[in-house]
Amino acid sequence: MTDFKRDGSHLSFCPPVEKWDDWVELDPKAWPRRVARHYAIVPTICFNCESACGLLAYVDKDTGKVAKFEGNPKHPASRGRLCAKGPATINQIHDPDRVLFPMKRNGPRGGGRWSRVSWDEVLQDIGSRIRNAIRQGRGEEVMYHVGRPGHDFIMDRTLQAWGIDGHNSHTNVCSSSARLGYLLWHYADRPSPDHANAKFILLLSAHLESGHYFNPHAQRIIDGKMAGAKLAVMDPRLSNTASMADYWMPTYPGTEAAVLLAMAKLILDENRFDRKFMRTWTNWQELEIEGRKSEAQSFEAAIDALKHHYARFTPEFAEKESGVKAEVIVKVARDIADAGSRFASHLWRGSASGNLGGWQTARALMLLHALTGSIGTAGGHNLNAWNKFVPKPFSVPPPQTRWNELLYPPEWPLCTHEMSFLLPHFLQEGRGRVDTYFTRVFNPVWTYPDGFSWIEMLRDEEKVGLHAALTPTWSETAWFADYVLPMGFSSERHDLMSQETHSGRWIGFRQPVLRVLRERQGEKFDFTYQANPGEVWEEDEFWINLSWAIDPDGAMGIRKWFESPYRPGEKLRVEEYYRWIFENSVPGLPEAAAEEKLTPLEYMRKYGAFEIKGDVHQLNEQRVSETELAQSEINAQGLVMKNGKAIGVMVDEKPVTGYNTPSRKLELFSKTMAEWNWPEFVLPEYYRSHIHRSAQSASVGEVSNDFNPQWMPKVEWPPHAKGGVYTLLPIFRLPNLIHTRSGNAKLLYEISHKNPLWVNPVDAKKIGDVHTGDLLKVHTEIGFFVLHAWVTEGLAPGVVACSHHLGRWRVNEEQEVERMSSAWVDLKEVAKGQWMMRHIEGVHPYASPDPDSKRVWWSDAGVHQDITFPVHPDPVSGMHCWHQMVRVERAAPQDRYGDIFVDTNLSHAVYLRWRALARPATGTLRRPLWFPRVVRPAESAYYRTSTGG
Ligand code: SF4
Repeated sequence: MTDFKRDGSHLSFCPPVEKWDDWVELDPKAWPRRVARHYAIVPTICFNCESACGLLAYVDKDTGKVAKFEGNPKHPASRGRLCAKGPATINQIHDPDRVLFPMKRNGPRGGGRWSRVSWDEVLQDIGSRIRNAIRQGRGEEVMYHVGRPGHDFIMDRTLQAWGIDGHNSHTNVCSSSARLGYLLWHYADRPSPDHANAKFILLLSAHLESGHYFNPHAQRIIDGKMAGAKLAVMDPRLSNTASMADYWMPTYPGTEAAVLLAMAKLILDENRFDRKFMRTWTNWQELEIEGRKSEAQSFEAAIDALKHHYARFTPEFAEKESGVKAEVIVKVARDIADAGSRFASHLWRGSASGNLGGWQTARALMLLHALTGSIGTAGGHNLNAWNKFVPKPFSVPPPQTRWNELLYPPEWPLCTHEMSFLLPHFLQEGRGRVDTYFTRVFNPVWTYPDGFSWIEMLRDEEKVGLHAALTPTWSETAWFADYVLPMGFSSERHDLMSQETHSGRWIGFRQPVLRVLRERQGEKFDFTYQANPGEVWEEDEFWINLSWAIDPDGAMGIRKWFESPYRPGEKLRVEEYYRWIFENSVPGLPEAAAEEKLTPLEYMRKYGAFEIKGDVHQLNEQRVSETELAQSEINAQGLVMKNGKAIGVMVDEKPVTGYNTPSRKLELFSKTMAEWNWPEFVLPEYYRSHIHRSAQSASVGEVSNDFNPQWMPKVEWPPHAKGGVYTLLPIFRLPNLIHTRSGNAKLLYEISHKNPLWVNPVDAKKIGDVHTGDLLKVHTEIGFFVLHAWVTEGLAPGVVACSHHLGRWRVNEEQEVERMSSAWVDLKEVAKGQWMMRHIEGVHPYASPDPDSKRVWWSDAGVHQDITFPVHPDPVSGMHCWHQMVRVERAAPQDRYGDIFVDTNLSHAVYLRWRALARPATGTLRRPLWFPRVVRPAESAYYRTSTGG
């Protein structure tokens, strides 16, 4: 305990590490008495978004329970700071409604009857099922579908050890559109901005908190601003981030690429671009516009061709299209040119994930980076692969030789990720079935569009043979499982994390803090669930043990991947997996540990994170090593070729690694797009989104059709849809909410539990003298939802907005989704495929082991909008285009708050309309060989002639 001093000099940011074993604080609940409490502090990693900030768990030595979570100052990315969601982990682990034991369903799926089973029964049942599937050549019927991964590589390794092509992710409802734009430029599919050293920062995400890396980015943006950087935010909505910016650019949704290309044109026309960078690092030699390319194309000719091509993107055009004033566009473009190599930006969801063709926003943004030479620089845009570090374990199984067309179907050969949100439609079309389906921290019934189609799929045992939900909490999806398998929160599991949060590389070690502490005190555990609350387990140990259950005698060649590197032939223990990595795969860690007389594992257990030193900029300029150069040759294009593959490129007469693209340069011009049937998209372009004003009613005025793709999908309204047409922005979130897992964090729900419809006053008048709090009915192409209005000038007329991450519901009065965050609903299928949901009761106080449940003062749980959206697969990226064209009217007397209606027959029809826009692969190659996949199969599987598919 620190002595109190009136001048506050006793205060510190965090307890010093040497006191972490026994930290003493006064008990605030005992005030005014001075009661000292002793804590052991154990580091771990937050699991409430992807950032992987460092947490410190304060374990009360008297009770043996975690008392609170604070930030870990030894973590290189979060530096001791957290957002509201990090400390809220304490609510999650002590939530009385959480799942504590493995549960198996009784009666029909979705019927809500459960009984407790042992982990051993679970392993034997699921293990023998998977064994049969693999032995019978049905390995692709085993599917692992992940929401929040929270780990690096271990799952890829597990699936490849099983030899199956079964990894499915949520990415195509999240970020795959932006990823395609980045991938086409430089292969790496995520940006890593160096905000702290930037002179100008441009953000295009829905806002900082709903982009990625909220806390690590926010603190570095502030660092940058304090050093004089300017901040611009392009967002149709006045977000928290926009309200702090130097420039708010409220674009009409989907027009962002037009504004970015207008800026690019200005920088080109004013000759303010980085000539040397463009000449050296872009593939201008390949530029071919409208089929024209000179014989010996010069750099100047290529630049002229670009100027000519983008001539129509005048600031005035961009203003007309986007609503952002031309002079602001000009001013920001000149600021970006001034910043030069210190121009940083971030685009993740927002414009990219809302719009048809949203991936072109990322391409247009990257054109600005190429023009300013701000790629790979301090203060600029860096590649995720340069800042993220994924160490390899003691053995890596060979890639799978199969190709699962339920994941990567032929219609979308350029999709960056699995077409996961179409799974119900694929099964409805008879493309296959799923024998064993794992959902992992994943709630598609609630977070995906078209959730009722997911319910229809999950309740059908012909389509899904067994559904095991690996989850830390009940969810709308877990309700339709055969097994609900409780998995740990951030202080209850092992994981290794690294993210591209800033200019630097690091790893973070998530650990089960109670097990770690008790082992320090001499206890021994075989499994983490023996030290966690109830029998909450962790995935790492689950997969190791399931793999042994699939292949108990090793005859299938699976078990060997899960044997100890230290005790040959014996089952791998989870700490051995990480021990080997820390001892062998993390540069500098063994030495740093030795300096403190610790083993590398002890070092990571003590500090929870480690920074890997080394240069992280301009790695494209690294020389190809002499060993790699042996038996290589240089072709006419200057590529360093070996065994038929480019391994580098000649720059200034030196062989350097370049980028992982076909040209080894930044691909301003994409031959890949032409080769894969999209010749109109060889360059960064602007095409209108499916929700552009030209697709709304004629009343919005004359809009030229020059930029509408010929194949713009048509909206067909159901007969009951009435009211004026608006664009709905459904993909921003309140900064303190966490997808599905906010539900059991009472602290977060107390702060935010309403998601009204944002309506501009002009529209409020048009709809019919609407005031804040009035009930509105929002019609989509497949149904409607009813919610309150919030009249605000924080967005433009013609656009309405509603936050996701609210509107949780449960069909059971007392069970299922946490009662502090969900409405109890009456859910009925009134006719085949026609679903009606009505709130029976909102949130209210109730008795539980947590005394706070009697103090609940709010009654609103929000309204579930996503379930009323049809699927909109972008024909190129495959991303679900979230923005919706909706009709909005005043609710009728019979409508009630929270009412939802959906017709899944209509949703299948919308799916077919959008599917028709795709351009399938025509040859034997399924997808460009240089395009990655999450768990990449062998190259042979990329061809249809292989055994796969
Ligand atoms: S940004 Fe917040 S939720 Fe995300 S890891 Fe950090 S503390 Fe946790």
